[in-house]
Amino acid sequence: MDKYDVIICGAGAAGLMAALVLKRKTHNNVSILILEHKDKPGKKLLVTGNGRCNFANDCIDEKSFRGEHPEFGYNVVEKFDKKAMFDLFYDEGVLTTSINGYYYPRSLQAQTVLNMFLKNDKNIDKCIHCNENVTDISKKGSSFRIKTDKGEYEAAYVVMACGGKAFSVHGSDGSGYDLCKKLGHHITRLRPSLIGLKCNGLDFKTCQGVRAKGRLTLKSNNKKVISEYGEIQFAEYGLSGIPVFQISRYASFCLADKHKTEIVIDLASEYEYEQVEHIMWNLVHKKKKKLPEVLNAFVPVKLAMAILKKENINPDTAKADRNIIQTLAGNLKALNVNVIADMGFEKAQVTAGGVDTNDVKNDTLESKINSNFYIIGELLDVDGNCGGYNLHFAFASAFLAASDICRKVKSKNDNKSGQNTDRKYKNTKQTGKGIQRRNRSHY
Ligand SMILES: Cc1cc2nc3c(=O)[nH]c(=O)nc-3n(C[C@H](O)[C@H](O)[C@H](O)COP(=O)(O)OP(=O)(O)OC[C@H]3O[C@@H](n4cnc5c(N)ncnc54)[C@H](O)[C@@H]3O)c2cc1C
Repeated sequence: MDKYDVIICGAGAAGLMAALVLKRKTHNNVSILILEHKDKPGKKLLVTGNGRCNFANDCIDEKSFRGEHPEFGYNVVEKFDKKAMFDLFYDEGVLTTSINGYYYPRSLQAQTVLNMFLKNDKNIDKCIHCNENVTDISKKGSSFRIKTDKGEYEAAYVVMACGGKAFSVHGSDGSGYDLCKKLGHHITRLRPSLIGLKCNGLDFKTCQGVRAKGRLTLKSNNKKVISEYGEIQFAEYGLSGIPVFQISRYASFCLADKHKTEIVIDLASEYEYEQVEHIMWNLVHKKKKKLPEVLNAFVPVKLAMAILKKENINPDTAKADRNIIQTLAGNLKALNVNVIADMGFEKAQVTAGGVDTNDVKNDTLESKINSNFYIIGELLDVDGNCGGYNLHFAFASAFLAASDICRKVKSKNDNKSGQNTDRKYKNTKQTGKGIQRRNRSHY
């Protein structure tokens, strides 16, 4: 059976960063095997940020991450903040650029980031076994036995970087949860996040393709859950766009709990209701505008038509009295739609839920249940907002885990070389030769 110092399960963002840090910090002096069941490493990384790879954000605080212990994500990224990440990227030849506070590689190509991991002097690409699926991990004394569909390996340290179960076409099929569960870790409830929501209560066919700025408020059993502002995309099935993504994990949990799940959209959030009514009344009665034109003063015409349809108002025959103006103003300020489903894990960017963060240490990502077993990236119960937070967490958790392994390997080596020195010292006493210098540390 082949033995390695470290086996990393999964060659995604987190697994590759762990390998890079291990190689950098030990000057290529640990044996690493990366097991990846897809035919190539980093498949999901390549599609992030529409192929541009958004890996950090200027706005980051405790609220950027969610999970049963939402503070965990922020505690981790604080220890490998964007400056530390950009310094590492720079050292590896990757320049960064900001677009409105969202950070990307300067090339605006995710491939540049993947190349940083694979095309360097550390031969990480040669450590990867592709098309090899990890099927079982067990403890064997102080080390681990890793079974795959192709063979069996032994390792002193294991890094679990299998991702979640979102967008499984790129590899993360949820198998990491079972592997961690078998070793005693608790898995929290899993739901898709950063995803569009299927809705009814509006004729979405009429307004599909519309993009409109607005404030969304998610309600569960009539109680406000969360509110987000931004550009909403109206799709044939319902709602999409960044503010919808941001609230989607909450909507998904509400639906799973069979709660009445609604979204109230304020399409004129910079105005008070009374102002909207007043403007509309004047447009109708002073400027002699028709109802679709009046609504179109606030929203795109297709959305105006969908609102009229929702209220069964025929714009050609309806009399624009106070009642009708109030109804339409009410829709602009609080357009109510029902959420009936999320678009599912296959279309989600991220998984909400995962390995309980209570089971790992937040400074090293080492399991509290199995020492020398590390769990990083999306596999953990940490889901970030849309905007670079998930990759930042994947990279930061990988950095901390790999640094801890390096520290342990170093202290093991120091102890060994210390023992050797002691032995040699004893020998020199006996033989009268000079004391040998300790091996220079590589760390
Ligand atoms: C379309 C899309 C766009 C996104 N855009 C962004 C963005 O711009 N910014 C951002 O921050 N986040 C973005 N994300 C989220 C981000 O990609 C993930 O959070 C991040 O990739 C997680 O990294 P990871 O290494 O933990 O998991 P992954 O990147 O999913 O990697 C896990 C790897 O493990 C492998 N694997 C799994 N199980 C096994 C097994 N049993 N045996 C062997 N191999 C296994 C998988 O094949 C995969 O290669 C996006 C996601 C999607 C789907």
